[in-house]
Amino acid sequence: MSEKTKRTWSYLQPPAVYGLPPCGCGNTEVQWSEYVGHLWCEKCQKDFVPAHSGIFDGPIPAQLAGLMGMRFDRVILETGKIERFDVDTGQYKAAAS
Ligand SMILES: [Zn+2]
Repeated sequence: MSEKTKRTWSYLQPPAVYGLPPCGCGNTEVQWSEYVGHLWCEKCQKDFVPAHSGIFDGPIPAQLAGLMGMRFDRVILETGKIERFDVDTGQYKAAAS
C-alpha cells in the first residue's frame, strides 16, 4: 500500500471502541489517522496500518453493536458536520443542529 488516500470522514468514537488493535508501542488510545486504513499513534507520532480491523472485518450487526454502546455516527472532516447513522435504514443523515 504505497499510496495513501485522505479520509473525508471519520467515526466520532475512537478506534478501540470498534475493537481495532493498539499501536505496537502499547498505546491503546490511538486515533483515526487522516489516511484511510490507517490509525494515528500520538506517542509515536506516526500513522500505522492496524493488524486487523476489529468489528469491520466481519459483517457488522449494527443493531447489536448499538446495544453494546457503539455508534457509527461520523464527522465530515471538511465541514465538521455530524451525520447520524440510522440503524433501521442503514443510512447516514445530517444531524439536526
Ligand atoms: Zn505508538
